[in-house]
Amino acid sequence: MNEIRSAEILCVGTELLLGQIVNTNAAWLAREMSLLGIYSFYQTVVGDNPERLASVLEIAAGRTDLIMMTGGLGPTQDDLTMASAATFAGRRLVLHEPSKAAIQEYFHSLGRHQVTGSNWKQALLPEGALILENHNGTAPGAIIEFLHHGRPVILILLPGPPSEMQLMFAESVRPYLQQRTLKKLRHRFIHMIGIGESAAEEALIDLISAQQNPTLAPYASEGEVMFRITQSCATDFDPDLTEAVLAEVRCRLGDFIYEVGPRGMPEVLSDLLVAQKKTISFAESCTGGLAAAMITDLPGASKIFKGGIVAYDNQVKQDQLHVSAATLREQGAVSEACSIEMAAGCRHVFNTDLAVAITGIAGPCGGSSEKPVGLVWLAICDSHGCRSQKLQAGGNRSRIRRVAALYAMDLARRSLLS
Ligand code: ATP
Repeated sequence: MNEIRSAEILCVGTELLLGQIVNTNAAWLAREMSLLGIYSFYQTVVGDNPERLASVLEIAAGRTDLIMMTGGLGPTQDDLTMASAATFAGRRLVLHEPSKAAIQEYFHSLGRHQVTGSNWKQALLPEGALILENHNGTAPGAIIEFLHHGRPVILILLPGPPSEMQLMFAESVRPYLQQRTLKKLRHRFIHMIGIGESAAEEALIDLISAQQNPTLAPYASEGEVMFRITQSCATDFDPDLTEAVLAEVRCRLGDFIYEVGPRGMPEVLSDLLVAQKKTISFAESCTGGLAAAMITDLPGASKIFKGGIVAYDNQVKQDQLHVSAATLREQGAVSEACSIEMAAGCRHVFNTDLAVAITGIAGPCGGSSEKPVGLVWLAICDSHGCRSQKLQAGGNRSRIRRVAALYAMDLARRSLLS
């Protein structure tokens, strides 16, 4: 087995070159591969053009062991990635019967019994390739191992739509790559909220810079602080080594840790609500429904989420949530009193165990020296009464809104744990 030492991500699509879609596949794949210890030294984007695709394949194969491609596997004329890759690797396209059957099955599951002629094209696959099933669409992926000027190169072809690409990567590509990397990495993710990135790094700087095995490193994540403990194990994984680092992080910053594992804040909160058989509702002003959207992104949200009110305008705060005119007049919409009245009104309207309110100034305008941009008041009401929390978030409008929604969920999480 040849170890994969370098990779290149090659995304195909004229839409990407025109800026009509953002290349999220490259970012996602780069992150996933780095977690496997495979570093992508180059990222390339090329349009749906056979000559230019052949030329970037030639360049990539000359400098990397693994070429990870996405896009252009669809049924239409301009989807030419599979054919171009097969030609480049010196393989014929042959009919792959299991893929033909899977395409037929997929159309039947959608209630369409007539498979269009062009869809059969997706069952024409490179001879000798490892074919990857697509459980979210029709285009199969492929892994082609071949020699380029006598040097082994691996080409992996994945569909463009992120939902198809990510599932195929998780089901087929990750296990394949794990077999082909000598360096075995095990990660644990520590999620924190309530502390800034630099303060957290400062508290852990000696552990971060010691860089033994396992290593501790910050991990980028918007609106929260994340760290990654990585243990490299040539043979066996020793959980005690990772646990020792984790224990030290807990000892220093335990109050801010809300998850050690893969879950984000919405999932952690949702799981707690399910476990305690409780329901939640949101009254949102500056976040415009973001907290509700984040919770309803999770399957099964109906068990714990009853509803939300986007009370952006003061009149809506009064009419729908019964915030008093006096509070709005004397203290303003971004105030502790208003947040508490919003949460109380919300709990009354939805009859939930918990109701959380968010009211703040997302900017860029509307701030003052007394109430600067990024000021957010959060409140929660439950069977024990109402509590509030003041937050001063930094960054642009979108970051302030995201941080506000995450902190609001954290307020609910803490109340469930108290
Ligand atoms: P399909 O079978 O849907 O045609 P495909 O493999 O041919 O899939 P493309 O036609 O290249 O993929 O892209 C289909 C859609 O997938 C694009 O319109 C876009 O929404 C998404 N997509 C493609 N490439 C990327 C990318 N690099 N990053 C994010 N999204 C992408």
